[in-house]
Amino acid sequence: VSTWSAVPAGPPDPILGVTEAFKADKDPRKINLGVGAYRDEQGKPYILPSVKKAEELVRAANPDKEYLPITGLPEFTKNAALLAYGADSQPIKQGTVAVTQSISGTGALRIGGAFLARHYPHAKAIYLPSPTWGNHIPLFRDSGLEVRHYKYFNKETVGLDFEGLKADLKAAQEHSIVLLHACAHNPTGIDPTPEQWREISDIVKEKKLFPFFDMAYQGFASGSTTKDAFAVRHFVSEGHQIALAQSFAKNMGLYGERVGAFSLTTADPEEKARVDSQLKIVIRPMYSNPPIHGARIANAILSSSELYGQWETEVKGMADRIISMREKLYNMLQKDLSTPGEWGHIKSQIGMFSFTGLTPPQTKALAEKAHVYMTADGRISMAGLNSGNIEYFAQSVDKAVR
Ligand code: PLP
Repeated sequence: VSTWSAVPAGPPDPILGVTEAFKADKDPRKINLGVGAYRDEQGKPYILPSVKKAEELVRAANPDKEYLPITGLPEFTKNAALLAYGADSQPIKQGTVAVTQSISGTGALRIGGAFLARHYPHAKAIYLPSPTWGNHIPLFRDSGLEVRHYKYFNKETVGLDFEGLKADLKAAQEHSIVLLHACAHNPTGIDPTPEQWREISDIVKEKKLFPFFDMAYQGFASGSTTKDAFAVRHFVSEGHQIALAQSFAKNMGLYGERVGAFSLTTADPEEKARVDSQLKIVIRPMYSNPPIHGARIANAILSSSELYGQWETEVKGMADRIISMREKLYNMLQKDLSTPGEWGHIKSQIGMFSFTGLTPPQTKALAEKAHVYMTADGRISMAGLNSGNIEYFAQSVDKAVR
């Protein structure tokens, strides 16, 4: 009998499963709105020209392939922290940000989960928004934290359940951890306003919660890296100590290169040194040290004012294309087709994703009858739409809801 005969078959990944169904479909009109990766106007993956240039610079320097230190490329992590916190933030000026390179955003979250499970001195429970990125739940559970939830989404208004959110955070166990999507909340596309962030910050302070920011989309949401960092910077300026996971997958299109950073703000340089030493002890037995190539590319951009400027324009280009697709889709559904329902949320939501409000039976019908694929919760990746397929998509949605 085989050693593995009792291993049960697990369920397919709910997001990656959509792409498999899409690939198997032979209809030429098929559309994949499941995948969380940017697509250009031709529906193709997009390599940013600034990334191409940066890669050429890296190649031209003919660098070796030696191991990085455990916490990664020091210039890169310094610049990544600067991008997130801003040059005038206290912890940056005081040199008290403990930062390490990570295997993209997922790896940053996992380092954070493991560090908190080992060193957080209070309740090792983390509150996640409901709903949240599907991977947050097993990720924090496998890190050794107890996963709890707070209200986030209001089905009736297809908007933020701000009253529910506040009530749940006020009722949360004191000193526990709260995960906040810094911008472009996935899957809903709904972010708190700056005013609401201020209120959240006050509650977090009152309840002595520990804020852990997941910033997977800085710059990608609004087109401005500064605007998208508002929540993180506001919390820091309010004196919160924070944990932060950063990803360069979306904003630099470096998905498969796995470029990210994890950081903690600390009280003083001496404490930072102790935290740094323990980050290394968490990381060393996990994967020893991070990949080098993508970090070099990202750092080439972050450290050159010319490439940085070009990158900012290109991030804005991606954000603007998505925003224009929102506008077009809204106009088609609400105005041209008079599709039953209210579609204002398509326009007001932020970032790559939109929670359409389509129900599981409707998403199933869209896949089977119209060859349009999305996750069962009705989430669509706006980046999968372009002027070549948006009209067909709007007509298909119109049919599905009538
Ligand atoms: N966090 C959120 C909210 C995300 O949407 C994603 C990607 O979809 C990630 C983290 C991590 O992505 P990656 O590991 O590719 O950086």
